Amino acid sequence: MSERRSDIRSCVACGHCTYVCPASHYERNFTARGTAESFLLHGREGIDLWSCLTCHACIEVCPENVDFPRFMKQARASREKDEIPVRTHAGILESMRNLQATGKGGPRKYDWLSPGLEIAQDSPVALFVGCLPMLDIIFKDVAPRLLDIPNAAIFLLNMMGINPRLLPLERCCGHDAYWLGEMNSFKLLASHNSKMLREEGVEEVITVCPECSHTLGTVYLDVLGEHMPRVRHISQVLAEGLREGKLMAPGGAERITYQDPCRLGRMSRVFDEPRIVIGSIGSLVDMPRSREMAACCGSTCFMQCDKVVKRWQVDRLTEARNTGADALATACPKCLIHLGCAQKDFGTHKDRPKIRLEDETVLLARMLGWKG
Ligand code: SF4
Ligand code: SF4
Ligand code: SF4
Repeated sequence: MSERRSDIRSCVACGHCTYVCPASHYERNFTARGTAESFLLHGREGIDLWSCLTCHACIEVCPENVDFPRFMKQARASREKDEIPVRTHAGILESMRNLQATGKGGPRKYDWLSPGLEIAQDSPVALFVGCLPMLDIIFKDVAPRLLDIPNAAIFLLNMMGINPRLLPLERCCGHDAYWLGEMNSFKLLASHNSKMLREEGVEEVITVCPECSHTLGTVYLDVLGEHMPRVRHISQVLAEGLREGKLMAPGGAERITYQDPCRLGRMSRVFDEPRIVIGSIGSLVDMPRSREMAACCGSTCFMQCDKVVKRWQVDRLTEARNTGADALATACPKCLIHLGCAQKDFGTHKDRPKIRLEDETVLLARMLGWKG
């Protein structure tokens, strides 16, 4: 984003950010204001590096336009070796990322591609699949069928006359490495992907994950200083297809609410397009906290997941259910994973905030005849 942001020294300790901050809720001892004050008085020593989700909600309400998440990212990048992130899932996601950063992952296979879908390996338009094939294995219990998302995307792109290419040499976009301040790892991933896209002659990248679209489209330019091909999230492409009549959705009676992913909404300012997609499937019912003020799904970079995060997530699911919607759709596989996980924690308990979780690309593809 081109908008100029202030650094942490501009914080006037007004506390506006505390109200919207997921990390400040409930009993955790963290606020952006307190962190800023501690940093200004005592330096980086002793500040909580891992509670901030970099969700960017604080910037929306900050009268001084303080870019707290950027400060957090920089503080993490300058940490000592023993200040390691509070990892979840026994660090498997970090290992997966490091394997890819060092090129030990090998070329991608596309055994998940459904029969009948058309790809063209000389197409100027590439579908960047990101880490979904791996996440599909790790999180199959909480977010089953994550690979329906790229399949549904290809089905809809084919309907729009686009046969995208897939990228066997793509690696993790580096989103988590960047926001955790692991800059060596991030630069390895970013340089590889950037060079690979250039050498392949790709003119446009479409992603199914907002973390990938924001990282490829904005962060690579910031860090590497290299312009990338055009990068769009699939919801932007589908909204265009609907507007231009290339996709004709009959609509339905279902009421659907929408979880704005931080990386797509606040960080990329894409609020309308996913709503156009949902509006073509059923009727959209927004939650009270939506668009710029949407509540984060509660977890970023698979880090610091604890009972505070779980309470936040359950509140969000309850907010979704209270709209009376039949389903909560999102445009981010990570939101599906984290919210699905919170729901799963309840098992069949009567207080489970039950609402069907869906990806909007999959919903639209099913409506238009995809049987995958
Ligand atoms: S980025 Fe999000 S989690 Fe971090 S301080 Fe701001 S509101 Fe809180
Ligand atoms: S809203 Fe901005 S100025 Fe106010 S406490 Fe938060 S970071 Fe500081
Ligand atoms: S909410 Fe997300 S980070 Fe936390 S345990 Fe579940 S999947 Fe892992």
